[in-house]
Amino acid sequence: MDLSQQLEECEWVPRVRLTPLHRLAIETVEDLLTHYPRRHEDRREFAGFPRDESDTPICICGEVTKTSLRRFGGWKKIFEATLQEAEANALSQPLVLRWFNLHYVQKMIATGQRLVVFGKPRLRGQRLCMEHPEFEVIENDEELSIHFRRITPIYPATEGLSQRVFRGLVFRALESLGDDDLETLLPRKHATGERRRALQQIHFPESTEALAAAREHLVFSEFFAMQMAIASRRALASARPGEPHCGGGELIERFLRGLPFDFTEAQARVLAEIRRDLASKQPMNRLLQGDVGSGKTVVAIGAMLLAVEAGFQAALMAPTQILAEQHYSVLRRWLEPLGVRTALRTGARREDNAPLPLFAAASATSLGSTGCQPVAPESLSGASSASQTRYAKRNLPHFERPWAKYAVTFSARKRRTLSEPARDIVLDSLLHWNERRYTLYAACVMPDHVHVLLEPGIKETTGEETVFFSLSEIFRSIKSHTARAINKVAGTAGPVWEEEWFDRLIRSERDLQEKFEYITENPLVAGLEAAGPYAWVWYPDIESRHRTPERRADCTPRRANSPCSPVTDAESGAPHIIVGTHALLYETVEFENLGLVVIDEQHKFGVSQRARLTSREPAPDVLVMTATPIPRTLTMTVYGDLDVSVIDEMPAHRGKIITAVREGEKLGEVLKFLRGQLEAGRQAYVIYPLIEESDKLDVKAAAAEFELWQERLRPFRCDLLHGRIAAPEKQAIMERFRGGENSALISTTVIEVGVDVPNATVMLVENAERFGLAQLHQLRGRIGRGEHKSYCILLSDDKSLAVATKLSVLEKTSDGFEVAEADWDQRGPGDLLGTAQSGLPALQLGNLKTDMQLMHRARAAATAIMEWDPKLEAPENQRFRKLVVEEQGRSFSNVS
Ligand code: ADP
Ligand code: MG
Repeated sequence: MDLSQQLEECEWVPRVRLTPLHRLAIETVEDLLTHYPRRHEDRREFAGFPRDESDTPICICGEVTKTSLRRFGGWKKIFEATLQEAEANALSQPLVLRWFNLHYVQKMIATGQRLVVFGKPRLRGQRLCMEHPEFEVIENDEELSIHFRRITPIYPATEGLSQRVFRGLVFRALESLGDDDLETLLPRKHATGERRRALQQIHFPESTEALAAAREHLVFSEFFAMQMAIASRRALASARPGEPHCGGGELIERFLRGLPFDFTEAQARVLAEIRRDLASKQPMNRLLQGDVGSGKTVVAIGAMLLAVEAGFQAALMAPTQILAEQHYSVLRRWLEPLGVRTALRTGARREDNAPLPLFAAASATSLGSTGCQPVAPESLSGASSASQTRYAKRNLPHFERPWAKYAVTFSARKRRTLSEPARDIVLDSLLHWNERRYTLYAACVMPDHVHVLLEPGIKETTGEETVFFSLSEIFRSIKSHTARAINKVAGTAGPVWEEEWFDRLIRSERDLQEKFEYITENPLVAGLEAAGPYAWVWYPDIESRHRTPERRADCTPRRANSPCSPVTDAESGAPHIIVGTHALLYETVEFENLGLVVIDEQHKFGVSQRARLTSREPAPDVLVMTATPIPRTLTMTVYGDLDVSVIDEMPAHRGKIITAVREGEKLGEVLKFLRGQLEAGRQAYVIYPLIEESDKLDVKAAAAEFELWQERLRPFRCDLLHGRIAAPEKQAIMERFRGGENSALISTTVIEVGVDVPNATVMLVENAERFGLAQLHQLRGRIGRGEHKSYCILLSDDKSLAVATKLSVLEKTSDGFEVAEADWDQRGPGDLLGTAQSGLPALQLGNLKTDMQLMHRARAAATAIMEWDPKLEAPENQRFRKLVVEEQGRSFSNVS
């Protein structure tokens, strides 16, 4: 049996089980076998009935002797079942199982049944109870040996399938495995047993020792595959042809002399590391980690100057418009005196401090030949903003509506290329269901995958309940319909599509806009529009806007060799350093002499975007900066393919930051203090948490909040800043604050990243418990940027231990790495990691923290192999190629 076999094709899977399985994204035998148990229950022997309450859950087996349904508080119901020990004796005490408002439970449990239950016994009055225990009814069927009298697997969410049914399916799947169906993809000296046995034992272990061994085997395999992918990515990157990009150092000397401060030791050390990389022929791939305010940007400027001096261009990419503008103004201030030309390129604005090359006149001929109108600089910027209005509010999901929008991607199987008629079929099909099953906001059918931005529609309304089309339903029909049609035109058979990725719930409007742009600009980014507009992109309103001259004007002049390309006439004022947002990614053709790319705030850039930027040849050097420290031990996974430099020292003479947690009742005192700071001429941020989902509510809450604060801080002036304020106005507000026209900024977390106003000394966070530690640390990084002592005040009414522990971390330390470690301790790696951004597949079994030792071993094993045999040519290494090839398909394609 082939592990990738679709469950549809397995005769041991009952048809009715297919839908719930698909809903769990379980499509193949392998998916089923790697849906690992959440825990195991030792049912070889059940615990005795409890005599007392306990904090550890126990698993017992007994007979239901009585059931009852009681009502309380009007419509609320309690269902109770009394469980009696099988061989009751004088000391036995029955156990009462209770469920509140779960009407389906009462349909499943009846007197006389035997039950296995799992939960914590609690004393309720005189009685011992278990509330909402997990349970399983024992039926005397022939499957007893699967479910009982063994260490039994309990699976995570099996929604729509009982544990029992699911367990049965896994059992069958394991039974139907042949001896050679599973390859053990581990280096021989590390292989502990066979994958087949490990899979068998992780589900149905013979003993706890066997279970532990199986888990170790599988986790190690998982880590090894991951580290092989990372190691090969690294090997590939450094094998690409590069060139030295390092000038003599005279320019940087002048820059450093002109700075009003000396570099810290850490800055100097890191700059030296970068310099070595720049001078080497191997392309640099370096990560620069450092807390907010540790002075990464100046180091990056130094690096860019080295490249500029060697005759190359450098690019600095920031995650947002505000940050790009901020970088741009810093660079201009420092670099103009050195004769270094900088330019700004963002979606909304393009500006050069040197006179723009006059492309209006020069471009007439070449643009004319492509059938375009000549474009003047003004109309070019007009065109960029036209592309912004393309994302018009009225085209978008309404935030008043409570349901969700998703960005979903699905790929053709084995990256097969879809012919043009096939792409037509897919787009037609997407449009066919539009407004019937969902509202479509953007779609793009690429040659080997499809991006869709949509919101599921209402399926039916029954009484109170509204049922929406599920994503799986939607995509199943699209995929099966198109697969059939595509096979027909292509004369092929078999599956066409891989499974879709569901996880892109749109969380905010910014997110939505990003996804929208990402999808509609995908072909441009992938270089598919060189020969003209790509035909398989759709968004509402496209008919009226699609391929208007503006849109062309927006992209055409950026093509290589176009007369407006700044690089073609380096002598006549082309910028040396270009600052921009993501938009730079779409115009890499503009650089012909790109020596160094600096990417600020890496977490906003995906690995694939980085790969795209650096896929040119010869490869430019790449420096990635992040102010979001992650635990050191994690770095080798998330940033495993990069060399790492750390600035672990703050500049001297930096104002101290004092952090204090206060209860909400103390607001009066806090206010007095805050006003004192404002009177002394300082400025303050007041941050309040809002859930970004509900548009209207938010704006209302923000407005109310703002009024309140205006009142409290009178006569000082405040401004309101939140995510729904349009970008230009947002910028104006930031400018006013920077210029000191306003004393306080009442804001959501939109100010979180990178904003630099040295005069701001107070950061007041309301409902601090609602923020994550990392986020609070980021917020705190907005203050203490000047010479003044600064204060971070965390207001919270939540007196629970968990919150107190969390917030006190910030009182104790200002070191971002320590905060990250604590955050990791308290939350687990899930959120922190953002596997999507690491470009690596999500871990199914391994735990990056508790299994750290295994990760170290896996990394060592993978590195050893790749160093010895980077192309995996040795006979014994050939089998590892599949680990590496799959990874390349995933992250080195232009898009993902
Ligand atoms: P980061 O990018 O790491 O958040 P920045 O490079 O923006 O930090 O630096 C924050 C502030 O500190 C800037 O105003 C910068 O001019 C200043 N700064 C950088 N390095 C030093 C230093 N060695 N001594 C004093 N101030 C510095
Ligand atoms: Mg910065």
